[in-house]
Amino acid sequence: MTITHGPSDAIHSMPGIVNKIALEEHFSAPGLEPSINEVSFFDPEVFPIIEAALPEIAEHRLLAMDRAGISIAVLSQTLPGVQSMGDVALAVDLARRGNDFLHTRIALAPERFRGFACLALQDVDAACNELKRCVLELGFLGVLVNGATDGVYLDEPHFSQFWHTLEQLDVPLYLHPGLVKGQVEAFRGYPELESALWGWTCDTATHILRLVFSEVFDRHPRARLILGHMGETLPFMLWRLDSRAGVTTIGRSLSRPPSETIKKHVTVTTSGVCADAPLRCALEAMGDDAVMFSTDYPYEDIQLAADWIDNADISEDQRIKVCRTNAQRVLGLG
Ligand code: ZN
Repeated sequence: MTITHGPSDAIHSMPGIVNKIALEEHFSAPGLEPSINEVSFFDPEVFPIIEAALPEIAEHRLLAMDRAGISIAVLSQTLPGVQSMGDVALAVDLARRGNDFLHTRIALAPERFRGFACLALQDVDAACNELKRCVLELGFLGVLVNGATDGVYLDEPHFSQFWHTLEQLDVPLYLHPGLVKGQVEAFRGYPELESALWGWTCDTATHILRLVFSEVFDRHPRARLILGHMGETLPFMLWRLDSRAGVTTIGRSLSRPPSETIKKHVTVTTSGVCADAPLRCALEAMGDDAVMFSTDYPYEDIQLAADWIDNADISEDQRIKVCRTNAQRVLGLG
């Protein structure tokens, strides 16, 4: 069965609404639903709304996409997913089942939905095989990784096979925040700072800088990353990163300035940020071809994000690139 309402053709003709592709749009597969214990930072009155929206794909979500002018949403398993599971065999199995489930959901409205794979990176061999299956057999567009895997970041040498597989398949890795393992000393006494409000930004931006300073991209020159949340502050920081890397004598000396590596290998989405100033900063710092629209549904308001980008103070050429054509190029959507 496929659902036929809300075809993308209708969105092309909606006055004042730009046809959009959205890349950071979450769902949850059976067995991988986040529990309130894992995401205890959520307002207990808000969490049930998110909990109800996550598994639902083909009715309320499609209607919201229609109203917002989103013709295609790329769906991804929400955190914590499988990466923090201690039982590796179970994590591998649930990742596969979750990807199969997503494939069946996409089939309900294949014009409107695409997928990013969920991978149990605790077992790199299994994760690479699953990524190949997801891309080559299920038609997924890449992978979304929820932060470090049980505290281990992607610069570790044993992930080189994973980077090689991404290059081989020529698909992007969407690096999304994940639950941070252990207590960060700077947040002690301020639990509200630990998660999406601030801590996840620090952790994800640091994750990218670990990749830059370990020179993963020298060894894997065709690897491509996507960062959400307007680039997790990195577009704002590029000049300072170059400046301070140039005078730091401890640690590694890089073959090129950090900004050069980031601009070459990273694109960003607007997920969870609906403000013109950081958008203009991202466009100016990263380039008009490097910024893509996303909403972070169901954690953020899909209509608020759409109304904002439809009216943001940028040129019409930039708006079309951000809303659609950059994503078409990055995701290979033609
Ligand atoms: Zn998200």
